[in-house]
Amino acid sequence: MTTTAEIIAIGDELTSGERLDTNSQWLSQRLAELGVRTLFHTTVGDDLASNVRAFREARDRVDWILVTGGLGPTADDLTREALAAAMNAPLVENEMALNQIRSLFARRGREMPERNALQAMFPAGSRVVPNPHGTAPGIDFESARPGRSPARFICLPGVPAEMKEMWRESVAPAIRASLPGPPRLIRHRCVKCFGVGESHIEAMLPDLIRRGRQPSVGITVHRATITLRVTAEGASDDECEHLIQPTIDTICTCLGDLVYGRDEEELHDVVARCLVDRQTTLAVAEWGTGGLITEWMSEVTPPNPLFLGGLVIRNREALQRCLDVPQTLIEQWGENSREVVREMADRCRRMFRADVAMAVGPFPEIQSSAASPQHVHYALATPDEIITDSVLYAGHPDILQALIAKRALNAVRLYLVHGR
Ligand code: AMP
Ligand code: MG
Repeated sequence: MTTTAEIIAIGDELTSGERLDTNSQWLSQRLAELGVRTLFHTTVGDDLASNVRAFREARDRVDWILVTGGLGPTADDLTREALAAAMNAPLVENEMALNQIRSLFARRGREMPERNALQAMFPAGSRVVPNPHGTAPGIDFESARPGRSPARFICLPGVPAEMKEMWRESVAPAIRASLPGPPRLIRHRCVKCFGVGESHIEAMLPDLIRRGRQPSVGITVHRATITLRVTAEGASDDECEHLIQPTIDTICTCLGDLVYGRDEEELHDVVARCLVDRQTTLAVAEWGTGGLITEWMSEVTPPNPLFLGGLVIRNREALQRCLDVPQTLIEQWGENSREVVREMADRCRRMFRADVAMAVGPFPEIQSSAASPQHVHYALATPDEIITDSVLYAGHPDILQALIAKRALNAVRLYLVHGR
């Protein structure tokens, strides 16, 4: 049976939205690496009754409860009090913890304020989780459950650095030691796709994104990049790999060119790699994307000398002056046209003496939502021809710039892969 967990993050700063709860994200990832399944994330404010209730509910529904925050010495830090009340275990002073806190203050050359003695109060029966670099020790408390194995609470400070250190030193080893049978690991591999919507992708992979499948396949979309995450559970990295690989192969076969990369790879990383494989140089001229492609291509590590550079143009005069696009052509077609973008790509290629150049035209002004959307044009100039395409400028403006930059980069990728 899978070992389960819940994470309870405590603090008014979290429930008010002032601060994002990144501890739960981090802890869930670490738990998954151990093969423990996180069933719930609970966020509670600094309120005693709510904390007591959250602890009781968690005890009934999971095996491990990881609590972060609320261990400080101030009046709004309620974790120890709430745990004591929820579990009917009176708070008692732990002498070892008190000595640790005292000596920590002594090492810093300060007297321990009386309030900090509170941090040595533990629900009866708890063990102390040492906190090498902070004052608040953590609490390790086992709660009996009739007819079931006990639930175990681990309360850690909210300060991320302290929490992470304590996880590595004490919590992870304790969880690992408690797990029955051979170790179970959970491993993920991702396939990155670009070019169509997620429902289209899902339809192309009819039986993979099914609940309960082993390995499981999840689909997420972020700024038009679609990620298929394949997750397997096994006793070793090798076993997980073996389970995952056939599914990855199936996905790649079904999706063909829509797949551009793996795991953390972005389109620009792949384009940079293809430039090296094909020993091809690239330059860009950007209007609508305002330098985004140049920025992405410049971020690639290690820096790629085959990306020669980018030119950002934001008005008609600059287009004439910097790229020497003839005024007559602009007047005849307008700057937002296939013809002008072709010319931009061609002239950019010659100016940079690049093997290929990508040009992105201006974005149309967003008129009323009732007006029919216009196109954004882009063109790729190669030694043999100029390939043009366009995207309908529709959707949420926040993602259009990234979407169009990716469309253009994807066209470069496809050219480099297929030679056209
Ligand atoms: P606490 O242990 O509740 O006194 O929290 C100490 C500090 O750690 C807070 O002021 C926050 O800056 C940070 N913190 C607390 N909880 C979280 C959390 N869930 N995620 C990220 N940071 C947190
Ligand atoms: Mg707090």
